Amino acid sequence: MTREKVQVVEVGLRDGLQMLPMTIPTVEKLEWLSAEAKSGVKRFEVASFVPAKNLPQMADAAEVVRAARDMQYLTVAALAPNLRGAVNAVEAGAQVVVMPVSASAAHSMSNVRKTPDEMVEELGRVSQMRREQNWNIHLEAGIATAFGCTLQGNVSEDEVVRLAVAAVEAGADEVGLADTVGYATPAQVKRIFSKVRAAVGEKCKSAHFHDTRGTGLANVVAALDAGIRSFDASLGGLGGCPFAPGASGNIATEDLVYMLESMGLDTEIDLDALIASQSVLRRILPGQTLFGKLAQAGVPLGFAGEDMAAE
Ligand code: ZN
Repeated sequence: MTREKVQVVEVGLRDGLQMLPMTIPTVEKLEWLSAEAKSGVKRFEVASFVPAKNLPQMADAAEVVRAARDMQYLTVAALAPNLRGAVNAVEAGAQVVVMPVSASAAHSMSNVRKTPDEMVEELGRVSQMRREQNWNIHLEAGIATAFGCTLQGNVSEDEVVRLAVAAVEAGADEVGLADTVGYATPAQVKRIFSKVRAAVGEKCKSAHFHDTRGTGLANVVAALDAGIRSFDASLGGLGGCPFAPGASGNIATEDLVYMLESMGLDTEIDLDALIASQSVLRRILPGQTLFGKLAQAGVPLGFAGEDMAAE
């Protein structure tokens, strides 16, 4: 029996590390990457191409992307808030460029100092440059604060749909919806993803959830119901946004994989190896709280996920 595949994207090296007060040496980032890659995770968002003065944790973005590309079985994604960042990401070898488009005007100004529509225009400039330079990249719009915003409060669902449509018209190959601040709830997730997919179809295919208020995995189930098959997560549930006060960890990669496999979905990830890769995290981030549940409690005796993967 072939099981339906679900993509798990490890974003901890970007979303997790950008929140930390200290900078992790490049070599340690690569140790994390390579340990987790061995468990079968194939897609990593490894860096954010922003000025080093804004996010010193990401100053080695180009170096990390180049090293990740040397691991040839990986798909390497990078965040870029503008054309300059996208050029740098592509020059370093990123295969996926994710541009954040905030559905909250307040978060957008705070995060990238542009209005949401100016960000869509910037995405259009990246798309145009891709055509002119024949870049072989996948261009993704990440609609940030799609489910609410700590600065603005409610975010209009119509605005999320409008921006998703505008991003696709500007050249995005894919639209993801991100719960940047952990406000999303399952009913809302299913409703908004359904609306966006009604407007842009299969191009809306990915979700990014934080577990700030304990609804992270429930939101994954709701997004699965709406047809979503790609999820961002962070090993040990690290994560946050420096410009979204109160935002804490992403959903934990290991908890996500465990749940997806238990539902009969195929992540192609070895759960035991994934949990084991956390030893690198504990070594390079001593004293850092890890939020995932599975690594603490262990995989249930007789859990069938991996046997099913071997069939
Ligand atoms: Zn995030």
